[in-house]
Amino acid sequence: MAAERVEIVEVGPRDGLQNEAVPLPPEARVELIARLVAAGARRIEAVSFVNPARVPQMAGAEEVMAGVERGAGVSYIGLVLNRRGLDRALAAGVDEVNVALPATDGFCVRNQGRTVAEMLDAFDGIAAAAAEAGMPVSATVSTAFGCPFDGETAPERVVEVARRAAAAGAVEVALADTIGVGVPRQVADLVPRVRAVVGGARLRCHFHNTRNTGYANALAALDQGVRVLDASVGGFGGCPFAPGATGNIATEDLVYALERSGAATGVDLAATAATGTWLGERLGTPPTALLGRAGGFPAP
Ligand code: MG
Repeated sequence: MAAERVEIVEVGPRDGLQNEAVPLPPEARVELIARLVAAGARRIEAVSFVNPARVPQMAGAEEVMAGVERGAGVSYIGLVLNRRGLDRALAAGVDEVNVALPATDGFCVRNQGRTVAEMLDAFDGIAAAAAEAGMPVSATVSTAFGCPFDGETAPERVVEVARRAAAAGAVEVALADTIGVGVPRQVADLVPRVRAVVGGARLRCHFHNTRNTGYANALAALDQGVRVLDASVGGFGGCPFAPGATGNIATEDLVYALERSGAATGVDLAATAATGTWLGERLGTPPTALLGRAGGFPAP
């Protein structure tokens, strides 16, 4: 029996770097992306088109997109939060855009200067303009498992934001544990409820390992039939507008768990782990990923 395919969306160049004290210049981010492509990544959140005054780590998105290799079957995703971001993404030639749609007002106002209701209205316009340009749009429902400002997130809010996103034309809807507070029971509760309202949109999950539940959550999502997972090489990451948020689940550690569980990712474990180690050296911070130190099993 062929192994079941699980798609990893590599978010290291965006979520992985946006909170680092040492900003990586565009040419280093291009090199990071090239290493990830060589290691098998085929969907990469490469850039974000946000205000560089607010997130200096993401400055130079256009230069990054101008530098990445095209035509290798890789889909490059740009994060956008408004129409201006979409226009920049279209001009820069990304393959997809992803829009963050927080489920909670406390985070939405601080992260993107709008309430949830205002952001959903804005998303309608972004999705319509993207559709006109032939650009696929996905939506990431942030703070779906808890909010650093508002506390617990009511599942009904998550379901409603996901429903609105799909109705506006999102081809993929992600549930994101932005600050790493979720547990597998929440995943098992939320995924079927969200699936019931998003029609034909794909489901994706985005976990942070802030409280060591990220990998358990990813495997719980797999159990619920989710076949697209975000991960960040080395386990780098965080959010400048979410105090205490730490890294995403690490690509290499997730790939190890998935492949030993019978899934196929197409991602080379050793090459990804080596990239995590390389990135740690560039950033002056060791990766939180463990596979770079421990290696795979059985030893190749
Ligand atoms: Mg994140």
